[in-house]
Amino acid sequence: MAARRKLIAGNWKMNGLKADGLDLASDLAGRLTGAGTVAFDMLVCPPFPLLFPVGDAISGSPLALGAQDCHAKTSGAHTGDVSPAMLTDAGCRYVILGHSERRADHAESDAQVAAKAAAAHKAGLIAIICVGETEAQRDAGQANNVVASQLKGSIPEGATAANTVIAYEPVWAIGTGKTATPDDVKAMHAHIRAELAGKTADPDAVRVLYGGSVKPGNAAELMAVENVDGALVGGAALKADDFWAIATSC
Ligand code: PGA
Repeated sequence: MAARRKLIAGNWKMNGLKADGLDLASDLAGRLTGAGTVAFDMLVCPPFPLLFPVGDAISGSPLALGAQDCHAKTSGAHTGDVSPAMLTDAGCRYVILGHSERRADHAESDAQVAAKAAAAHKAGLIAIICVGETEAQRDAGQANNVVASQLKGSIPEGATAANTVIAYEPVWAIGTGKTATPDDVKAMHAHIRAELAGKTADPDAVRVLYGGSVKPGNAAELMAVENVDGALVGGAALKADDFWAIATSC
């Protein structure tokens, strides 16, 4: 198996005001700097208004900054939207795309996710492309097909391990406290790895994260599963102690 460095990503979603974000990010940046050499990359993805202050606060530290979405266009008449270049301007290296909450709340299609990822790549950002089945789809035995079709539709031309990360997030495990079993995760991550062939230049090197109710108590077990190359963490990423415990369990 190719050596893939783990990525521990915090998706803050629509949580926190400036003071909270600055506290959390500065705390994590301090711990990461103090820890010296670690076995993982760490990333925080605050809401848009916090990108500049948080980016400034952690600049020069090993803690990376990411956003939770971007537009597929570089500029223009798109009220309320944010371009990839605006994200890099704020210090972002990553952007989460196609999260199930955006697919559900904003009816984002695979094609839109692919267009956003292509635009993100062009701006020099690493796209974290999210996929995952609903509970009904899993119960109907459709999980593998759903995820394969999301990968096919959402990964743009030109994707490589350097510009693309995949996050497998079963919708039924997000924010619910339900976590996929290590066996389910192992099977799905192997499936995703196989499906990446032909869709990315170097499928063995692409990082595939697991997300969905990852917390300090289950992180070590999940991070030890074959083909799990890190975590996309929601709720537990809002507390420095919990997020740090997850990262250091790698
Ligand atoms: P959760 O969210 O850790 O709160 O389940 C994960 C995510 O949606 O990225």
